[in-house]
Amino acid sequence: AKNDVTRAVCFYESAMDETARARRALATDLRQAIERGELSLHYQVQTSVPTGATCGYEALLRWTHPVHGMIPPVEFIPIAEENGSIMAIGEWVLRTACRQAASWDNSHKIAVNLSPVQFAHADLAKLVHQILVETGLSPKRLELELTESTIVADKVRTLHVLRQIKALGVTIAIDDFGTGYSSLDTLRSFPFDKIKLDRSFMADVERSPQAKAIIRAVLTLGRSLDIPVLAEGVETHVQLTILQVEGCNEAQGYFLGRPKPIDQILLIGGPDVRN
Ligand code: C2E
Ligand code: CA
Ligand code: CA
Ligand code: CA
Repeated sequence: AKNDVTRAVCFYESAMDETARARRALATDLRQAIERGELSLHYQVQTSVPTGATCGYEALLRWTHPVHGMIPPVEFIPIAEENGSIMAIGEWVLRTACRQAASWDNSHKIAVNLSPVQFAHADLAKLVHQILVETGLSPKRLELELTESTIVADKVRTLHVLRQIKALGVTIAIDDFGTGYSSLDTLRSFPFDKIKLDRSFMADVERSPQAKAIIRAVLTLGRSLDIPVLAEGVETHVQLTILQVEGCNEAQGYFLGRPKPIDQILLIGGPDVRN
């Protein structure tokens, strides 16, 4: 029996080694991903619920690894945050999204995700300003999305940076709303221009009265605070209808459009095109 345990432990340890090695290899590859041109952005449409018009697009990062193929952001962003390459990657995302949005001949917004690490370490307001000047994108067309984990890290500093960014004319959205642990306090203290309701509520809305009640409550909250609410993860017509009835401002999800490469967005002319 002892031998079995020893063998099992050895096996477990070598499996751990394997995972750690794979992670280290990915971390190394990631540092070179920008120069090798392996990163790209997909864009997902954000739609007005009452009118069906296109309001903007969220930029979503994609990494095509030369050996492993497409690696989803949930797998490589944590690695990038750990080894610091998120700084260069985040800057690349911001610059690329602004450049591409400036080349669209329309007025739609472009929403860009920010990592808490970028917030903590970069002079973010300066960087955003530089990139807006460099790309010629109007500041009012840029929206930055951040999650509560960004805020809780250092509230005072985050508030300071957010005010600087807002002074440029850029807007701020709170992402994955409802999944953090200080949502209401956050809304009271930070100058958000949009609430993005986490997609977990949408996923349950058709069978869970609780999920529906929470969506309704957040919409009421948004109206009281005069902050528009965008519902994430809308996958069905029924879900969209519920949002119409409840008076949601904007929606995003596979039903309205999947994330697509830029050429497909431009090809179909951007506005009001579904799927
Ligand atoms: P997120 O910011 O909440 O982005 C929305 C995610 O939900 C995207 O996954 C999108 O493809 C997916 N999604 C959209 N509509 C639906 C739907 O109807 N149903 C379902 N089930 N999913 C839907 P993606 O592109 O894999 O990105 C995952 C996360 O990675 C993002 O979550 C964001 O936190 C992070 N991320 C993506 N791009 C960037 C980036 O450029 N910088 C940073 N820091 N994080 C990023
Ligand atoms: Ca987001
Ligand atoms: Ca989200
Ligand atoms: Ca998320």
